Amino acid sequence: MQEAHKKALSDPIFSIISDAAEELSLRCYVIGGYVRDYLLNRGIPMDIDVVAVGSGIELAKKVASKLEGKPKVSVFKNFGTAMIKNKGVELEFVGARKESYHRDSRKPIVEDGTLEDDQKRRDFTINALALSLNKNDFGTLLDPFEGLADLDEKIIRTPLEPGITYSDDPLRMMRAIRFATQLGFQIASGSLKAITENKERIKIISKERIVTELHKILQSDKPSIGLGLLHKTGLLPLILPELTALQGIEEIEGQKHKDNFWHTLEVVDNIAMATDNLWLRWAALFHDIGKAPTKRFHKRIGWTFHGHEFVGSKMVYRLFKRLNMPLNDKMKYVQKLVMMSSRPIILSEEHVTDSAVRRLVFDAGNDVEDLMTLCEADITTKNPRKQRRYKNNFKIVRKKIKEVEERDRIRNFQPPISGEEIMKRFDLKPSKEIGIIKEAIKEAILEGKIPNEHEAAYEFMLEMGKKLNLKAN
Ligand code: ATP
Ligand code: MG
Repeated sequence: MQEAHKKALSDPIFSIISDAAEELSLRCYVIGGYVRDYLLNRGIPMDIDVVAVGSGIELAKKVASKLEGKPKVSVFKNFGTAMIKNKGVELEFVGARKESYHRDSRKPIVEDGTLEDDQKRRDFTINALALSLNKNDFGTLLDPFEGLADLDEKIIRTPLEPGITYSDDPLRMMRAIRFATQLGFQIASGSLKAITENKERIKIISKERIVTELHKILQSDKPSIGLGLLHKTGLLPLILPELTALQGIEEIEGQKHKDNFWHTLEVVDNIAMATDNLWLRWAALFHDIGKAPTKRFHKRIGWTFHGHEFVGSKMVYRLFKRLNMPLNDKMKYVQKLVMMSSRPIILSEEHVTDSAVRRLVFDAGNDVEDLMTLCEADITTKNPRKQRRYKNNFKIVRKKIKEVEERDRIRNFQPPISGEEIMKRFDLKPSKEIGIIKEAIKEAILEGKIPNEHEAAYEFMLEMGKKLNLKAN
């Protein structure tokens, strides 16, 4: 047992910290994520948290003085912490502390404390595990809250009473759900109840912190675990009400539609298997959000969601804005994929024509493969025959995309005839006829009437000129 934990501390950095602590006659421990991830065999984390019984800042300075190249110590006096970047690893030092909270803030009142005080203020038992860096018991695991047992049983539990823990710092609600998702752990029933009871307190947490946790949930292998927990605890309507609005099945005159919330969760899990692209995963999460506001029932045709892609892409903008997410090209990418999300499906249901594929490539540009990945993830039918057919049709679409690519160079389309050339040939000043001709050439290429080549386009331009009664030079 002892030996195994020494292995966790075999990196020379830990001996250096140990020496520094001895020189300052203080005790110190590695705590939190590093210990947890080591015990879970999750690979070596890029940040190491060290808690000192005494001044964490002094310890950091002493450690830095012993390191090659004497790295800079960033001191955060207000928090009583210090950070050193060493060989790509972030070493975070803090003095052991006791914390108490005010109701309206997640900023605690802090006093010096013992190691156990410090472990108590940690969010979860599995994050409160500490390994000694002291000479006399180097590598000993200090586990007053049975975090090791919780690691074994795969349980997220708080060291103290859950009601207080989550109310003190409601970010922990998001963290609990995020860890449950990343690690595939269960949240202890007391915690789940406390999160549900304290859900409204999420309002004191900054949007940025919430989004960071959402990113981590989406980046996990099975995001539906976290999204399902957000739903179950009632946090989801406070964070992403647009998703909650998709929940439920309505039935009128025997006609039902699918539950678009649970469908969306399946799609997100599917896409997580297909890609690590975080923004493509966001697009999957939002691909159907326009369905709630566009839902209608028609006596003859049943349920429709006309224009949900367009409405959904508008909603993406408002959502990003509300969550203080940057309104940059990532947002535009998500909007575009939501906007185009039904296009390949329509293709997959019909006979796939070349011109439909050319139009798809023209509109999607370089994002066409991502769009296909999204659409394949969107297949959640449980009917094996339908599933096979849709998948096969998408295979055909992908093959056609490749063919069209090689032949017609539609992606990032450049018109084969320039406006200048048209003006010169017909002796025109800038005018609407030029736009009409250019558009007609583009259409003819997309429709497959002419190849995407200069010569053919030139002939076509001359014909167009005739139709418009233009005189050629
Ligand atoms: P990861 O780095 O993978 O997100 P982590 O557990 O290392 O996981 P950090 O945010 O790096 O998470 O925090 C380091 C440690 O600080 C945690 O393991 C936990 O002990 C403690 N901690 C972090 N945030 C909180 C919080 N909101 N409440 C209580 N303890 C926290
Ligand atoms: Mg960490």
